[in-house]
Amino acid sequence: MLTKQDIIDKALELGFDDIGFTNAEVFNEHKPFLQKTPNNYTWAAASGLQLEEGCNPVTILPQAKSIVVLLQNYYKYDFPKSMEPFFGRCYMDDDRVTRDGLTIKIKQFIAFLRDDGIKTKTPFHLPQKAAAARAGIGTFGKNCLLYANNTARKSSWINPVTIVIDKEYEPGKPTVAIGCPDWCRNACIAACPTRALKGNCTIDSQRCISYLTYYASDITPYELREPMGLSVYGCDRCQDVCPRNKAWMSQVLPINERVVTKAPYFDLVKLLHMDEKYFLHYIWAHMFYTPATDMWRWKMNVARAMGNSSDDRFVPELIAAFNNNNDPRVQGMIAWALGTIGGVRAKDALHGFRAGASDAVLHEIERALDSLHHY
Ligand code: SF4
Ligand code: SF4
Repeated sequence: MLTKQDIIDKALELGFDDIGFTNAEVFNEHKPFLQKTPNNYTWAAASGLQLEEGCNPVTILPQAKSIVVLLQNYYKYDFPKSMEPFFGRCYMDDDRVTRDGLTIKIKQFIAFLRDDGIKTKTPFHLPQKAAAARAGIGTFGKNCLLYANNTARKSSWINPVTIVIDKEYEPGKPTVAIGCPDWCRNACIAACPTRALKGNCTIDSQRCISYLTYYASDITPYELREPMGLSVYGCDRCQDVCPRNKAWMSQVLPINERVVTKAPYFDLVKLLHMDEKYFLHYIWAHMFYTPATDMWRWKMNVARAMGNSSDDRFVPELIAAFNNNNDPRVQGMIAWALGTIGGVRAKDALHGFRAGASDAVLHEIERALDSLHHY
């Protein structure tokens, strides 16, 4: 039978950044957390993930004895400046659909265990951050993220991967705690643009920009449009301001060539005008939470980011997109974006949009025109 050291050595040989072990006991402390804020997890239920069930490893693998937790640092390479302001870092090289990066390593690791007769399951709904803390390889931040204990300069730029196995290994010493220094006066909470962070590792996820960019069911509420800034998909603000992340972020890192290759496809103008074929060919496999049937959300997000950019280069693009879209959420956000960028061209276009506009879009047009009365 493989020793614990054999398994650790294999994980490091494959390029994982850290590995820990915990037992297969129920994550009892996590259940009340899920029950207290059920609205935060409606997205998970809609995706078929039963998070409460995932708190009990035996429901995942009946013979469960241990959980192996692997950590992968997803920010070893820098990201192109043409993408970084608009997309969360953890999504820019996400291979969960393309399965050509981290997935290959996970498969190799699982094959190594199975070759020794160990049964494995790799669940998505087990509380992965809680498992990492119980395995002693991470602590929590008040921004609800996991921070590494031994790798990535103790930062939060890590993905935990959990594998439930049917063999018992000595568990690590738990570090289930908030690891934030007292002298940090809740920088993440103060910096969160939409006031989603509520303190002590709690979040109103439906106010979080990440959630809003890929799961929102309607046009972004008016009061959140400006705070959402340039975000098109995801948000890193509470990590960028965190002093626990500064040591990692102070490095000059080599560029991520995989992301450089795809960056031209994520140009805002191309995203605003993309059709379904383009979306499915170039975008969806990399950032897949929004299906093609909800492409309106991408376009709305891009229009909002363009408005917040104050870049009048986008005005003709927004005008063309208004005329080529009939979704009121996209048209409404385009009207808002034109009102935010401003200028005579934007004002004239908004006047022209009035004819034939639906009530909801007309409301956005009139509000945008009100903000342009000085032109
Ligand atoms: S990801 Fe952005 S919006 Fe969400 S909690 Fe962090 S700072 Fe706030
Ligand atoms: S910003 Fe401060 S409070 Fe927030 S996670 Fe970082 S150290 Fe903790």
